[in-house]
Amino acid sequence: MLGLYIHVPFCKKICDYCDFHAFPAPEWLQLEYLNLIEAEMCTFAERHPGLFGRVETLYVGGGTPSLLSPELMDRLFGMIAGVGVPMAALREATFEFNPESCDAERVAVAVGAGITRASLGLQSLRQHLLNRVGRHHDVEAGRGALALLVSEPRLRVNADLMFDLPGQTVDDVVEDTAWLAESGVGHISLYGLKIDPSRRLGLRIAKGLETVDEDLYADMYLRGVECLETRGFRRYETSNFAREGEESLHNLNYWKRGEYLAFGPSAHGFLDGVRFYAPERYAKWRDYVKNGCPEGGLTLDRLSSEDSVAEFMQLSLRTKYGMSLEGLEKLGFCVPGSAFSRWISEGFAEMSDGVFRLVGRGWLFMDTIVLDLYSKCRQNR
Ligand code: SF4
Repeated sequence: MLGLYIHVPFCKKICDYCDFHAFPAPEWLQLEYLNLIEAEMCTFAERHPGLFGRVETLYVGGGTPSLLSPELMDRLFGMIAGVGVPMAALREATFEFNPESCDAERVAVAVGAGITRASLGLQSLRQHLLNRVGRHHDVEAGRGALALLVSEPRLRVNADLMFDLPGQTVDDVVEDTAWLAESGVGHISLYGLKIDPSRRLGLRIAKGLETVDEDLYADMYLRGVECLETRGFRRYETSNFAREGEESLHNLNYWKRGEYLAFGPSAHGFLDGVRFYAPERYAKWRDYVKNGCPEGGLTLDRLSSEDSVAEFMQLSLRTKYGMSLEGLEKLGFCVPGSAFSRWISEGFAEMSDGVFRLVGRGWLFMDTIVLDLYSKCRQNR
């Protein structure tokens, strides 16, 4: 399956923990960005005739794509269709909204253009927690945006919820997760805060001005999972939970190592066994596009067989579908049975029908298990 990702790098205000490529931008810069995205996609279409016509899933993420005005959103969708993406025939088309810029007009533009799935950056239902991590929106705006999205019958809706925030309790996580699960969304991303020491929140923590109780991480995650599972959501990836049929096809394609195209600053794609990364900073990306998108302007990562197997293990083990031994063998590698037994006997994983998958507390040790298996994996002779 071929996916298409478009990165919109603008946010109204930068959250204190953010490590994405995003920045506030006046309208003239947003216009410039759209012209550049169009040029980048058109250049790609000339080099790969017909490829956009094969796209099956679209994801417009950021940043905050909903920061674009309805007119600019309309133009973006027109450009995507203009290079040959079959908007009306896509299996899934997701657009990210943040509460402060989620309104009826933007939702109507998105749905009218063929968007079938909305992802809302809700993050928390408690004002003091939103404040402590520097989120721009307030709880009322978050609830209003959620109600607007779930009332649109042509949209499937995801909402993001964070845990392990400064000042958050386990009860906060359980109550908020339970409320969200009953709110009408079909998909929830429940993920732990990652502290980047170079960002405002990380600096405050380093100075002792803020604290995060990392000991609560496991309890918050496990109680959140329990809360979702008792309400009909199933974990299909370590941080992603869906009601039946509500899984994100676009993200599943990433985890299954499917191909995808990507445009915009810092966007990265995967095609013909090569991972490619656009320049991360906006100014460098602008130069790259203005210079005609030379291949030398991209960072290319041609995966060796070792890279491929590491990636296969890492991506497959984070999903409920697990790692198939047949898939490992196709890549020319195997792992001795004793390496699996250790994790199975500890109750962290199971093996059935030639598939090794994480269970229970094993999800908390995903990185350790992947590293352990990788260190023991051998190339077949
Ligand atoms: S909304 Fe998301 S991308 Fe924008 S600053 Fe906050 S965390 Fe970063």
